Amino acid sequence: MSETRTLQCVECHERFGEKFFRLHTRGTYTCPKRKLRCKCCEQNRRDAAKTGVGRFLKKAQNAFGHHARSFLHAGKIKSREELRAKYGWDVRVMAHDIEHKFSNGCHYCHRLYRTMANGLSSITLDIVDVKKEPYYAVNANWCCESCNREKQDMSPEEWAEHLLNWERAERARARIAAMDPFADSLLEGLLSSGGVITI
Ligand SMILES: [Zn+2]
Ligand SMILES: [Zn+2]
Repeated sequence: MSETRTLQCVECHERFGEKFFRLHTRGTYTCPKRKLRCKCCEQNRRDAAKTGVGRFLKKAQNAFGHHARSFLHAGKIKSREELRAKYGWDVRVMAHDIEHKFSNGCHYCHRLYRTMANGLSSITLDIVDVKKEPYYAVNANWCCESCNREKQDMSPEEWAEHLLNWERAERARARIAAMDPFADSLLEGLLSSGGVITI
């Protein structure tokens, strides 16, 4: 019988057979060998990323990576470092902002993320004006995916009008919600019985 090859996990420092490490379909390891985590540590890390504070950092890192790629592609930046040093994209600050937004809601529509179907995934990074330089917090800010999607096809004027309309609808909805829940049925009852309503 051939000797089983073992590998060491960087997190729990135990050695296990290769099968206890997840492999890509192409046969390469999921991460560089020097950063190899066993299946148990990998799962724990994934769980922490989904539920703990780590999920905000993970989201910030993903957003940084995604936008850095598109800015590099568009020739807006020459390196990922430029995005951090010149434009202030610091993943720790970004993670902190995501956490803040998560408890306070979208600054455009004021909806709370925990009430949205996709929860944390609903927070997206909005490049306020794509024609201008991507300074973080000035021209790159977090908002909900619906607002981000909606805003994409609109001019700034259209977007401003959309936000004003949104606020008006929200106020009207709040007024309706604050009304006596029996007011509607009382009104209907009077109308159907032929009663006269004086205002
Ligand atoms: Zn491990
Ligand atoms: Zn929104």
